Amino acid sequence: MIRYFLSVLFTVCLYAAASAQITEQERILYLEFKPKSQLVTDTTIIEYPKFPVIDAHSHFGPDDSVQEIRDSMRTLGIHAAVNLSGGWGEQLERNLRTFKDPYPDEFIIFYNIDFSRIDEPDFGEFIAADLERAVERGVQGLKLFKNLGLTVKDQSGRIVPVDDSRLDPIWAKCGELGIPVLIHVADPAAFFLPIDRFNERWEQLHRRPQWSFYGPEFPARETILSQRDSVLSRHPNTVFIGAHVGNNAEDLAYVSSVLDKFPNFFVDISGRVAELGRQPYTARDFFIKYQDRILFGTDRSPAAAVQPRHRIYYRFLETDDEYFRYYDHPRPPTGDWMIYGIFLPDEVLEKVYYKNAERLIPGLKINRHETSR
Ligand SMILES: [Zn+2]
Repeated sequence: MIRYFLSVLFTVCLYAAASAQITEQERILYLEFKPKSQLVTDTTIIEYPKFPVIDAHSHFGPDDSVQEIRDSMRTLGIHAAVNLSGGWGEQLERNLRTFKDPYPDEFIIFYNIDFSRIDEPDFGEFIAADLERAVERGVQGLKLFKNLGLTVKDQSGRIVPVDDSRLDPIWAKCGELGIPVLIHVADPAAFFLPIDRFNERWEQLHRRPQWSFYGPEFPARETILSQRDSVLSRHPNTVFIGAHVGNNAEDLAYVSSVLDKFPNFFVDISGRVAELGRQPYTARDFFIKYQDRILFGTDRSPAAAVQPRHRIYYRFLETDDEYFRYYDHPRPPTGDWMIYGIFLPDEVLEKVYYKNAERLIPGLKINRHETSR
């Protein structure tokens, strides 16, 4: 907080020095102006989603309380949650023992790749074989974190591109096993831009400077996204789910073009209600057009302390509420925006909430009768 205040002050001082004309009134405006909207609009509280929900993008670990997570899932109407942080080896086994074995219909565990082995000969074949064993043990998908294409390096010191041929046996194996790859590559557009007063995520990047990928040491965002697209085209029999609206929620025309080009591509909406909800007309059209290709996800544990994030998603998807906050923290987590609901038709909502996930994740079939509003 103090750091934030100081950095604001610093920027203001710089600005003041530059203009040398800043008045007391302007100073207060920059530091303290926080207008309160006087709009009188509907507030629809969605305590419970209209249909069962599968959270296809969630993170928790074997040390978290299973009971707490299950209780939260009941309260929030989540029938099944996909834990993308399954890991490998011992961690994976612990995740499976803690969640999957006792509650096979409620928890789905995804495998992660150990990139520290990237320089070993037959790396791809080794991982593919390990993954096959993991699937026999109960794993239902593979999750890629954003480090691939961005920070993972091999012995030569080169950043491993997303379409590195050493990974081909892994993508092919996923197709053969019929499991999806949930792929997070690149990040929001603003993370690849200078952290200056024009950056729409300035506050967020000041809180988390490690999320800035601006500079010559990082590949361009467009390069990483096009590497992903080349993997999509080389592996048409493998299902890829692009995390965070394919990490280009700022540009839905681009995401649409990728979906049009590659029938094996799908997206989840986790962490992007702020982007989707500030372009409600475009987002609504997008959801309706690609209703078979979009999965619900939040990027949170159902038991996360800061709730009701799930309920904000429900409000965004189900209602026509206008100009409301997409967060429940003192400060905006990403940018200082308000959002609008997109009141999806029931048949679209049902697909996004659970039907698409059921179709793509093998062995996932929720019990529909258990709860309904
Ligand atoms: Zn995530």
